[in-house]
Amino acid sequence: MELYELSLHEVAKKIKDKEVSIKEVLDSVYSRIDYAEEKVGAYLSLCKERAYRKGELLQERLDRGEDIGILGGVPIAIKDNICIKDMKATCSSKMLENFVSPYDATVITMLEKAGAIIIGKTNMDEFAMGSSTATSYFKKTKNPWDLERVPGGSSGGSAAVVSSDMAFASLGSDTGGSIRQPASFCSVVGMKPTYGLVSRFGLIAFASSLDQIGPFTKDVEDMAIMLNAIVGHDKMDTTSVDLEKKDYTKYLDKNISGMKIGVPRDIINGLKNEEVKKAYFNAIDVYKSLGAEIIDVSLEYMKYSLSTYYIIATAEASSNLGRYDGIKYGYRTEKYDDLLDIYKNSRTEGFGEEVKRRIMLGTYVLSSGYYDAYYKKAQKVRTLIINDFRKAFESVDVIVMPTAPNTAFKFGEKTANPVDMYLEDILTVPVNIAGLPGASIPAGFDQNNMPIGLQIISNAFEEEKIVKAAYAFEKSTEFNKARPSL
Ligand code: GLN
Repeated sequence: MELYELSLHEVAKKIKDKEVSIKEVLDSVYSRIDYAEEKVGAYLSLCKERAYRKGELLQERLDRGEDIGILGGVPIAIKDNICIKDMKATCSSKMLENFVSPYDATVITMLEKAGAIIIGKTNMDEFAMGSSTATSYFKKTKNPWDLERVPGGSSGGSAAVVSSDMAFASLGSDTGGSIRQPASFCSVVGMKPTYGLVSRFGLIAFASSLDQIGPFTKDVEDMAIMLNAIVGHDKMDTTSVDLEKKDYTKYLDKNISGMKIGVPRDIINGLKNEEVKKAYFNAIDVYKSLGAEIIDVSLEYMKYSLSTYYIIATAEASSNLGRYDGIKYGYRTEKYDDLLDIYKNSRTEGFGEEVKRRIMLGTYVLSSGYYDAYYKKAQKVRTLIINDFRKAFESVDVIVMPTAPNTAFKFGEKTANPVDMYLEDILTVPVNIAGLPGASIPAGFDQNNMPIGLQIISNAFEEEKIVKAAYAFEKSTEFNKARPSL
């Protein structure tokens, strides 16, 4: 077995026990990248020199007998919308092609404090808008399970690097499913924490009331470790909550007897993909066999969540992206006579089609005359969706449903009509609308051998319940062990 094939907790232990050096681990993962990146195309940039330098410092500290942290010496990849000082943060957009961040995002400071080594930045949909990573201005990332298919999105690069062993873990961001859906498409573990649990300082904003940073990992134990590293109050983010820190690894417990698992029966019945449904009901059977109690829940307003999401997310995006004016930073057009020209031409040339579509939609729903009919109405429906979940969590510990209605699709399959792409988000967006935590874990394969994910959702700030339910499932099934052959 090669070092790069190990899980995060396995490799961290080998480093700590001095069975392997940090340099050997870096060599192994970079050699894997040399081989696999050409096929998968998941990285936008690598920072080898920086990584080896950090590795040397950590190794010296370890050799002196110091504790180098829970992620001590472990190579980790970062989505390219999260800022790292003196490194590019492009958001996969021409607009930020040459943008170099002057500061570290809080999650980067925290990861590095826990001993992680950043090895590169990953590809994504432009400004995190999309479900395929195909709206990236720079390149296509392929699904390691089938190179003709998308890895999901928008954090497709971060999912693909973990799935193809090009990193032991990665960070992504999830505004409407961008961690969970690619995790599902690539058969890795992906978690979106509760809104406010992980600092967004240094995450380039898409839709601020929905965005949240979270980890991709090879298994649930690693997910708990990554959460331990990145959760915490940050005064630089006004939406960051100040709660007592939990040790999520304490909940890696196979015994879930008596746990109450909610099944939104109406929603499941409405799904069309029989293979996804089959994998889902198989998962329910696994939970039954583990002694969990299966309880039907109703999420009456969930059917409106897609429309609600695409109003709120585009409204916030149109406002957040107003900062790219060709003046302060980012791309500036070469063709202009006056100030208005700079704005107009810079934005026209610097943004891709999907981003422009969202800015137009967002501006429209916020415009006077339409504000009440769309934006205000969407905010009201948002409250109804939140109440739905609140009620459901009075009787269950977690709610489970498939992560995505379908498995990974082929390139170009859903690009003709943008709404086809939006429909893929139907099972993930409600969680962002309600600010709740949700994870996707491997739960099966369809007849094309494409992965199927199981989504586990808990009430706000109860991530430990997700850890528990996910761990018990992982330990009783084999899905997590399968790897793509590249
Ligand atoms: N696919 C969704 C969208 O395009 C979600 C994106 C995200 O979570 N960043 O908006």
